[in-house]
Amino acid sequence: MSLIVQKFGGSSVADAESIKRVAKRIVETRKAGNEVVVAVSAMGDTTDELLDLAHQVTPIPAPRELDMLLTAGERISMALLAMSIRSMGHDARSFTGSQAGMITDARHGQARIVDVTPVRVRDALDEGAIAIVAGFQGFNRGTGDITTLGRGGSDTTAVALAAALHADVCEIYTDVDGIFTADPRVVPRAQKIDRISSEEMLELAANGAKVLYIRAVEYARRHGVTLHVRSSFNNNEGTIVYNPTEENSESPVEEPLIAGVATDLSEAKITVVGVPDIPGKAAQIFNIVAKTGANIDMIVQNVSAAATGLTDISFTLPKSDGQTVLTALTAEQTDVGFRGLQYDDQIGKLALVGAGMRTNAGVSAKLFTALYEAGINIEMISTSEIRISVVTRADTVNDALRVVHTAFGLDADDEAVVHGGTGR
Ligand code: ASP
Ligand code: MG
Repeated sequence: MSLIVQKFGGSSVADAESIKRVAKRIVETRKAGNEVVVAVSAMGDTTDELLDLAHQVTPIPAPRELDMLLTAGERISMALLAMSIRSMGHDARSFTGSQAGMITDARHGQARIVDVTPVRVRDALDEGAIAIVAGFQGFNRGTGDITTLGRGGSDTTAVALAAALHADVCEIYTDVDGIFTADPRVVPRAQKIDRISSEEMLELAANGAKVLYIRAVEYARRHGVTLHVRSSFNNNEGTIVYNPTEENSESPVEEPLIAGVATDLSEAKITVVGVPDIPGKAAQIFNIVAKTGANIDMIVQNVSAAATGLTDISFTLPKSDGQTVLTALTAEQTDVGFRGLQYDDQIGKLALVGAGMRTNAGVSAKLFTALYEAGINIEMISTSEIRISVVTRADTVNDALRVVHTAFGLDADDEAVVHGGTGR
């Protein structure tokens, strides 16, 4: 008997009909002789609606109460799903995050899982029941309060349950057919990827691919959980996200040069202009940035256009952190001694990801040539072992994505079928 964890996102359980459809699918998996644990998100846009409601009551909702409110969304879907399964003649029990033993730290709104003790889930399985667990929520032992794991946290719930219960696979059901070589809404000839390493998936998720949340991929990688990302609207095989260490060691298959290309329009660029070119200044600047909690990505340092002995330092960060970081840097301007700040929120980032890059020369040359031939200007470049990222103007990033996809031979013969969902 296999133990399968299945996660259904909000778009898969958006209304009563969808819940019944999902229930049927769960029952089929159970009937095939598997033990089944389900992590479920709130119905449709429930979480956003609850957030709106909170902000209609007060501009700054108390974090503890906000978590109390938001976790209600998953309570609704888990109970409806369990009822629906029971009506089909199968035993099913729903559990809140705390009942399922999802122990987190105390950070409301962005709690981290510190322990998973799914005793009641295990008991339910032993008694032949299907266990339905509310995604996205946990419990802090110190405060005794309910927490949430951050937006999209149900993926993490599913992976954490899979790890703690030693599941054979963690299936992430969504409204697209799997992971694609690029966003099929922008690149019609994008191809579904059959297998991708967790390392490559991590880079794609970190660079704008929205199908899987990065924290869930990290958790899966750390705990050796195999993921299967697939559509809840058909029975097709989706994408397997595997951990190379366990599976790949004796595999004769060579890693593909490029796994996929991701783009991200959610970042902005800050340039600190005219920084004294002496030891300690970068440290000072990035300590100020670090204190804001902003997650910076690319960093480039250049000789300043302003004068000799000065340097310009640019970095990218989420637009949502832009104002906070600008304010923090401005407050320390005299102390650091820079001339000024520039803020640019019209940038786009493109990341080419592939484990085969490690052993292949010429990947950057090919990327830059493709962009040059399309007349696209590169503003920043950064690389890791298996990724090359470039920053361009925001309004050229989709063109960049298409030409790069073609240049690396990733185009399929046919256009991908897009079901019109968001990929969540
Ligand atoms: N319902 C939560 C959200 O919308 C968690 C999730 O969907 O994974 O962020
Ligand atoms: Mg959701």
